[in-house]
Amino acid sequence: MSEGPIPAYVDVRKAFGQALSLSGSVSLELLPRFRECLASDQARVGVNLSFSVDPDTGQRQITGDIEAQVEMTCQRCLQAVGLELSDSIRLALLVSEDQVASLEPEWDPWICTEPKLELAELVEEQLILALPIVILHDDAACIDKLEYEAVPEAEGAENEPGAASPFAVLSELKAKTAKTAKKAAKAKKAK
Ligand SMILES: [Zn+2]
Repeated sequence: MSEGPIPAYVDVRKAFGQALSLSGSVSLELLPRFRECLASDQARVGVNLSFSVDPDTGQRQITGDIEAQVEMTCQRCLQAVGLELSDSIRLALLVSEDQVASLEPEWDPWICTEPKLELAELVEEQLILALPIVILHDDAACIDKLEYEAVPEAEGAENEPGAASPFAVLSELKAKTAKTAKKAAKAKKAK
């Protein structure tokens, strides 16, 4: 995968007419909704995209794959956890919502009525769909860390009424996570 950034957009007619293939990186700055889900800006996003027209049906198709290395917040210990996301892309370019119903199930719809196709928007949607619902460290160090940090905070709370308990922090995070999940569900619905 090339290290250079992909273009911000492609001309729809040219991309499909010339069977364009491109690969490269996408800056987090172009992915504001995805960035909100992350624990840090330590991220690398790479994408391969190929544009083609089905010779039989004339359907315009975007295929490829997406890879990202990101840091998210562990829902158990609240520390950063490194994740590798990857997903394949199989999108059919549609010009109206009405065409979604007749789309074959192996294709996901991507509606674009403009002569330009914004690539960051497309990449961001695929990344959000690739995010896991539950984010946890998969090693024992995560639980050890939680127990170690929870004890002194709980003692401190007795002396200082009103100090945030680790559980309050956790429930706040859960509420935030629910919001994010809702957003993802919304994004899915919108497709
Ligand atoms: Zn953890």
